[in-house]
Amino acid sequence: MAEGQIVVTGGSKGIGLAIARDLVSRGRDVVCLSRSGTGEFGRHVACDMTDEAAVREVMAGIAAEGPVAALVNNAGVHITAPAGSFSVEDFERTMALNATAVMVAAREVFPHLQERGGTVVNIGSLFDKIGAPGNLAYCASKAAVAAMTRVMAVEWARYGISVLNVAPGYIETDLNRDYLAREKVQAWMKTRIPAGGPGCPDDVARLVGSLISEATPFLTGETIYIDGGQGMNH
Ligand code: NDP
Repeated sequence: MAEGQIVVTGGSKGIGLAIARDLVSRGRDVVCLSRSGTGEFGRHVACDMTDEAAVREVMAGIAAEGPVAALVNNAGVHITAPAGSFSVEDFERTMALNATAVMVAAREVFPHLQERGGTVVNIGSLFDKIGAPGNLAYCASKAAVAAMTRVMAVEWARYGISVLNVAPGYIETDLNRDYLAREKVQAWMKTRIPAGGPGCPDDVARLVGSLISEATPFLTGETIYIDGGQGMNH
């Protein structure tokens, strides 16, 4: 396990907050980036991940404080609309945060991981392999995350950098709380998710925390689904 700071994007709430909490509980030095720059665990810096210049400046500032050991690309947005009327604006907003910002953050952290090795964990989604109605942009963005993970993994393996895509199924957070509370959705989840319902942010956080803590550079490029068995259910 490489020593040093761990950067978590979107660490102010939801899955990102749980990841920050898990890493802090493992004694790690965590820096969370979000637009609000708030949160309970680790240090917090305000940064809109879709602002390339801001990301470059913030990453350089973090690296100036000390070594960087890992990046968790977690910040994400979820916009739904029918495919037949999806607006370019909503498509590009989704791609800007869920895909382009993942590339930019990883690119900016790369020089700081290059010398000592480290881990990049991208938070993708089970939807990267599902044709979920209303999720045209979200599915496309998460498929892009899986694809970028593979390319970065292959290019950076020689430096001891492991790049992984952790792809959750339904996890109850602000992103989907109202949707998951619907009776029809709850009944549907009981039949579709072998584990019986949605997971919680801590499920994802424990996986990410252990992947970083037990860093295994030979494990790289993979998409690891954490979905209660939903994706393989018949
Ligand atoms: P939340 O909406 O609960 O949290 C999103 C986080 O991202 C917040 O910390 C928010 O902070 C931050 N954020 C949003 N926009 C930006 C931005 N432009 N720049 C910097 N930070 C930003 O989402 P979840 O915790 O549910 O989701 C986290 C990740 O997990 C996402 O990538 C999502 O796609 C993925 N995921 C979630 C699933 C679920 O069921 N919840 C399932 C599969 C994947 P702030 O508002 O302060 O900027």
